[in-house]
Amino acid sequence: MIKLDIEKSFKGTSSLWEMALSCNWDLGRIIGISGPSGAGKSTLLRIIAGLEQPDQGHIMIDNQVWYDSTSSINTPAGKRNIGFVFQDYALFPNMTVQQNLLFAQKVKDIRLVNELIEVMEMEAWRDIKPQLLSGGQQQRVALARAIAMKPDLLLLDEPFSALDPALRDRLLGYLKMLHQKYRMTIFLVSHDLDSLTKVSDQLLFLDNGKVTSQQNSPFTPIKT
Ligand code: ADP
Ligand code: ADP
Repeated sequence: MIKLDIEKSFKGTSSLWEMALSCNWDLGRIIGISGPSGAGKSTLLRIIAGLEQPDQGHIMIDNQVWYDSTSSINTPAGKRNIGFVFQDYALFPNMTVQQNLLFAQKVKDIRLVNELIEVMEMEAWRDIKPQLLSGGQQQRVALARAIAMKPDLLLLDEPFSALDPALRDRLLGYLKMLHQKYRMTIFLVSHDLDSLTKVSDQLLFLDNGKVTSQQNSPFTPIKT
């Protein structure tokens, strides 16, 4: 179980942006997150990843405390066994595609790396460096690298935004398969409700730092 109860605020130029979330999720699910720009989706992922801290509250995963403002517990990002794909991809520029994937791995599972390279159709770029790739290609490398770690928790912030619909659909199917195989818990942020409803077990809608609705699959038709 992931238990999260947090508050966070940012002082903007004109007003205060405040987040207040209190959520529980079962492990091993795909949790789809949507909501308008500025809702706090990226902030939520960064807080779960440990890249940003709440002002107060706690985060617990599987009875392990990752963050607790009252006891100053704050498990560093590197110790949370998390894979993430954020919007800037953050690939290692001086390594080839294959080295990027291998570097991320704690276990040197070359079979999984080869499988990822094949499924994501990246054979041709195996030995080149990411700056030679397009945005969509880099996005695939970033996704493969995050999955190659076999993390307990996979945090994906618009991971398919630069991909064409056919490839997006294939990768969605592959993500679902990997999720079943490795029992990863996945948080998937997307504006694309069609993709979210295809793969998610639960949907979470945020607006202005608050949960506006939450649904379990099978989903009732969603109006946007
Ligand atoms: P979303 O991902 O849903 O678009 P974000 O989590 O990126 O929303 O941002 C939520 C709000 O907090 C936005 O208004 C954004 O401008 C603001 N914000 C995010 N990060 C910071 C920060 N480090 N400092 C100040 N404001 C921030
Ligand atoms: P998204 O595209 O997911 O909404 P953002 O543009 O909100 O992402 O965030 C991109 C980066 O800029 C993040 O690292 C975030 O912390 C930072 N950021 C966002 N809004 C602000 C802000 N108002 N002031 C300072 N930093 C911000």
